[in-house]
Amino acid sequence: MNLRAGSEEDFGAVATMITNDCINCGACEPECPNNAISQGENLYVIDPLLCTECVGFHDYEACAAVCPVDCCVTDPNNIETEEALIARARALHPEVNFGEQFESRFRKGAGKPATSGAAKKPEPAAAAAARSEAPPAAAADRQPGPAPEEDLQALLAKLPEVDEWQIPVRCFRCGQSYEVPAERFMIGNVLFCPHCFKSMVVKDSLSFQIRTTLKQAYEKWQKARAELEAKRARELKEFYEKRARELEAFIDSERRSIEQVKDQLRAITETYDAPGRIKKGNLLGWG
Ligand code: SF4
Ligand code: SF4
Repeated sequence: MNLRAGSEEDFGAVATMITNDCINCGACEPECPNNAISQGENLYVIDPLLCTECVGFHDYEACAAVCPVDCCVTDPNNIETEEALIARARALHPEVNFGEQFESRFRKGAGKPATSGAAKKPEPAAAAAARSEAPPAAAADRQPGPAPEEDLQALLAKLPEVDEWQIPVRCFRCGQSYEVPAERFMIGNVLFCPHCFKSMVVKDSLSFQIRTTLKQAYEKWQKARAELEAKRARELKEFYEKRARELEAFIDSERRSIEQVKDQLRAITETYDAPGRIKKGNLLGWG
């Protein structure tokens, strides 16, 4: 393996580096909780001032875990201590309280599952932003019930935008639940549990599943809405056609009734025995 890290020669403390076996797939970049990976001139590179070997966030190196060609490696000539790495993580993330039982690859397999000790304070900026920018509740929370025409139209118009959905998340570390706007489930975003501050990187599979689920739900709702609107349009058309037929039948009936009344009136006047009226049988003076 040909070792060549982006800038390790400038910093004697590079622990994780990318070799020139890198195929530039980009899979590692969004996994890094420190945004330490970027695309260099020829290959992806790790900023040694930002890399903590994922200490503080994971008990493994996230970039190495996803690299398809295993070119995210520990530089044997530049070994860093856990103490130095967690100090760097704390400096990079002052908003996170890592506690003493932080995640660390140094304790992996030693029978001491790493825990984030960040259960109390303060809340990470990302989590705070996610909470403060909370959009309206999703449609599923609404209880529409029977609604008059105007309310139904208003309800249908109020389906939230896809990015406004609040996605429920159960922290795999502390087991508590929290909500994150759908727009934050972009590949590479780091989500923080507001209860224990455990981070979670959004991978393409999670982003895809959430987008797909919402897309399918919206397609289903839009189809149901189109069917409802078509049904209502059909019923309205049938109603107006029926009303027109009834009106036409009513007018015909009225015309016939008027003619009948005219006939009756004509019959009355024709049979009226008016004074001085010459009767047919008396034209010759009989009777
Ligand atoms: Fe980032 Fe962790 Fe890889 Fe270092 S080891 S570059 S912190 S993902
Ligand atoms: Fe290079 Fe591996 Fe990162 Fe892909 S995952 S860009 S091959 S270092």
